[in-house]
Amino acid sequence: MEQIVIEARDELLEHVRKHNPQADMKKIEQAVLVAYNAHSKQFRASGEPYILHPIAVATILADLKLDTISIITALLHDTVEDTELKTEDIKKLFGKDVAKLVDGVTKLEKIEYQPENLKQAENFRKLLLAISVDIRVLLVKLADRIHNMRTLHHITDAKKRYRLAHETMEIYAPLAERIGIHKFKNELQDLAFIELHADVRNSIASRLEFLRKAGGGLINLIEKEITEELHRNNIDAQVSGREKTCCSIWYKMQHKDVTFEQISDIVAFRVIVADIPTCYKTLGVIHSKYHTISDGFKDYISTPKSNGYQSIHTIIMGPEKRCIEVQIRTQHMHDVAELGVAAHWAYKQGIKQITEGTQFRWVRELLEILENTNSPEEFLENTKLEMHYDQIFCFSPKGNLIALPKGSTPVDFAFAVHSDIGLSCIGAKINGRIVPLKTHLSNGDQVDIIRSKVPMASPAWEQFVVTGKARAEIRKFIRARQINEYISLGRALIAKSFKQVHRKYDDNELEPALGPLKRKSVTELLSAVGEGSINRNEVLQILNNLEDSSKSKSPFSLLRFNSKKPLKLKDNNSMPIKGLIPGVALHFAGCCNPLPGDSITGVVNSGKGVTIHISDCEMLKTFADTPERMIQVSWEEADQQVFIGRLKLTISNEVGSLAEITNAIARTSANVTNLKVIGRSLDFFELLIDIEVKDSAQLSSITTVLRMLNSVHTVERVRG
Ligand code: MN
Repeated sequence: MEQIVIEARDELLEHVRKHNPQADMKKIEQAVLVAYNAHSKQFRASGEPYILHPIAVATILADLKLDTISIITALLHDTVEDTELKTEDIKKLFGKDVAKLVDGVTKLEKIEYQPENLKQAENFRKLLLAISVDIRVLLVKLADRIHNMRTLHHITDAKKRYRLAHETMEIYAPLAERIGIHKFKNELQDLAFIELHADVRNSIASRLEFLRKAGGGLINLIEKEITEELHRNNIDAQVSGREKTCCSIWYKMQHKDVTFEQISDIVAFRVIVADIPTCYKTLGVIHSKYHTISDGFKDYISTPKSNGYQSIHTIIMGPEKRCIEVQIRTQHMHDVAELGVAAHWAYKQGIKQITEGTQFRWVRELLEILENTNSPEEFLENTKLEMHYDQIFCFSPKGNLIALPKGSTPVDFAFAVHSDIGLSCIGAKINGRIVPLKTHLSNGDQVDIIRSKVPMASPAWEQFVVTGKARAEIRKFIRARQINEYISLGRALIAKSFKQVHRKYDDNELEPALGPLKRKSVTELLSAVGEGSINRNEVLQILNNLEDSSKSKSPFSLLRFNSKKPLKLKDNNSMPIKGLIPGVALHFAGCCNPLPGDSITGVVNSGKGVTIHISDCEMLKTFADTPERMIQVSWEEADQQVFIGRLKLTISNEVGSLAEITNAIARTSANVTNLKVIGRSLDFFELLIDIEVKDSAQLSSITTVLRMLNSVHTVERVRG
């Protein structure tokens, strides 16, 4: 073995010894050797021997205190896919458990290296199926992804780097969060963030650096003050402050639309105490000493998050008049928070208990959604969003607790209780008051669903529901209803043709045409005719030809067939909106100036086409009593158009501040098309900047970059 490999191996063994003295060192050493021989002719993009990768992955898992089987799996995870080694060989050498896990990881590996979106979704589906068998497959996969992300810069193909980073951000980081391994989540997010938004990340990092210098030893100072205050009250506590990662700061700025200064918890303080009663006592001491900030208090000890996370969070006006977040928890809660599911190994609980426990209800829920989903892309769309959100807890009138992602509506609640309740929901009461169905639920709300006797689900709900389950059920219901409509329309069309030749129509008459038209059933054929994908004349022509060859004269030959293809409406090529009738005239509302990426709603104007508004535009309220004029639309994805986004800035009236701003925008490779000073005082001036962007995401990332600048005080998007 090369020196560098020996060093890596010894480091791994040392980590294992330190975290898990009971591990089978001999077996692990043997696995290193087997993997070394198998990969002997392979190299990483960095030029190093390939074996360093599986050793690094195993070391990451050793630090999570994982068992021998997981570590051996990590060492062998790429052998079956990339070398001569077979699953059978692994079974003989290391037993059937390791073989099963390596097999699970290999199956994921195989589908990973396929570029399109579709494959990514399919990938995700397989991943979930694998996790539902044994969660350790996911742990190995996550560690593998961490090491690949740490070494991402060695890959020269920019497209490949982007794809890996994107996948990491959308799928692997949320999964790590879901199983509660924050350590993994933070590292994955930050590594992906560097690749995806280098400009934003650098801005945040340099701003943090600036604050760190300006603040001096502020963290130490606050740590000391809190520790002493608790001590005076006879509480023994470990207090530590830490900065949030660049990526989590960015998420906060994006989602809550706040500026850097408004984020109170750039530094969070953690207080670790002996037991639960002391947690609440500590909270009492802190609350009586410092002012609290409203809405800043969350008690995840009495209502844990679905991944098992427990802690008390509170935001206070702390020492030095700084807003800080304080998290109070026990050591056990802390281990669970950092290591998630892996902490349970450290506490020696059986793996069965963990995978089958309520903690992983979400895996089962996702699999349930999967059953109701038509395509993997739709599935991905249904689920990935849900993962970024925090949770809220609501109650049924009988007092049952329903956990939902933040932003959920009564419709989400109804579907979470039962599909039937969701489908028949027509109204809702929150805490006894009737509210619109798209109202956002808050923690602790009691939700009472008003139901109709028959399923009534409306396509409009799809615009505001946030849970994947609700969205999938609504789509399924609408699709079924639509198909029924198509079937009766198709039947009416064909029956009319039959009548013209004085022949009685019956569904069975169509059976001979099924084969030639490649349809499985008469209803499928009728639905295709109703929908317009098959022309009824085509069907009659086929029946005619078939009967022609058996009889001399078919009644259908009396019909004159129009051999021309059905008239196709012209597509308006430049139209970036999905969900409209092709060719319809389209306007973008001047009141809100929608950009791709915004959630949008169309309003049908009699004779004047459709106007597109941002879904929460005030103007839409004026159409509330004519909901039939509102239509559901969304942006076409592959669109290359540029839009003008407008920002309003307040900046310091200093030499060079304008140049700083235009330079910052130029660095994001966006184009300023217009810049206008609209107000000026001694210290500040206000300006409007028009920027060419491809969607709202680009505009908000520019907003973030601008907010980082020293000379910029406020930035807001101007609609209209
Ligand atoms: Mn690998």
